[in-house]
Amino acid sequence: MLKTRITELFGIKHPVIQGGMQWVGYAELVSAVSNAGALGILTALTQPTPEDLTKEIERTREMTDQPFGVNLTILPTITPPPYEEYAQAIVGAGVKIVETAGRSPAPFMELFKAYDVKVIHKCTSVRHALKAQSVGVSAITIDGFECAGHPGEDDIPSLVLLPQAAEALEIPVAGCGGFSDAKSLVAALALGGEAIVMGTRFMATKEAGIHQNVKDLMMEADERSTNLMFRTMHNTARVFKNSISDQVVEIESTGTAKFEDVKDLVAGQRGRVVFEKGDMEHGIWSAGISVARVKDIPTCDEMVSRLVSDAEDIIDGRLQKVKA
Ligand code: NAD
Repeated sequence: MLKTRITELFGIKHPVIQGGMQWVGYAELVSAVSNAGALGILTALTQPTPEDLTKEIERTREMTDQPFGVNLTILPTITPPPYEEYAQAIVGAGVKIVETAGRSPAPFMELFKAYDVKVIHKCTSVRHALKAQSVGVSAITIDGFECAGHPGEDDIPSLVLLPQAAEALEIPVAGCGGFSDAKSLVAALALGGEAIVMGTRFMATKEAGIHQNVKDLMMEADERSTNLMFRTMHNTARVFKNSISDQVVEIESTGTAKFEDVKDLVAGQRGRVVFEKGDMEHGIWSAGISVARVKDIPTCDEMVSRLVSDAEDIIDGRLQKVKA
């Protein structure tokens, strides 16, 4: 057993959290993760309306009696969603754990506090983490440069960012970005982290409701299989390297590109087709550098059990042996 401040805070068995993932965080995956003793997180904006989110929360409850959370990401979007209504749906359904991301959670804290919701805020810098702590969140996920999706603009990898955050904050910190296996879990604990957050690794599981072609391609990937796009628009996103993301990077390399020039290529609705139909060149899809570490497609239970027992073996075995 690995007991940390995060396992205590959220009442979970293992210090492992499945991060919110657009078009991936559905009830089947989330319940499988929570049933495995980690913390599953539904993605609010993957549901077309707040009413659909309420139904998805109910569906998750039918499949697990373990704690799970909901991610609410507030970033630039082509069609801005009604964030306030999604937040109301979350509290109305009685969810007690929320992962916020993208922008300060301050505007939502009064609502979440009124409903006894514990907020874990995901951010990419120590200064934003300190701000979130000051507005009353319960924990922080600190996203290193390796992460999928939006790593921010500072480019600080987890090896430096996680200990910086853990030392600066009083509330517990989970490491995100680059974490995928027992070795990286033990490293996160050594760096002062109280848990790891994994997205990419959980995509490569049997219960992730995405096309088998995506999972097969993930197993072929290496550490150079991602692209950084939107660098020039200060909304950097790490996505899988394919012909579409290569095109976006090329358009941006002119130095004068506007969002309108890449809008049709990057639309989330196109990325959704990749996940649903397995057409790997149809759109962009988020993946972290840790995609290089995906070697198999286990069930969530197999993956989490192996992760934790291998981590215990590293702590009791290799680390003890190194000690002179
Ligand atoms: P979308 O189709 O609205 O937009 C596609 C991409 O373009 C997103 O990355 C978005 O941030 C970006 N974008 C939109 N308008 C922009 C603008 N004016 N300037 C610069 N970039 C712009 O989004 P979606 O794929 O349906 O996703 C919905 C939400 O979830 C977005 O906020 C998106 O950023 C977020 N998301 C987050 C992650 C993550 O890993 N954190 C991954 C996927 C999506």
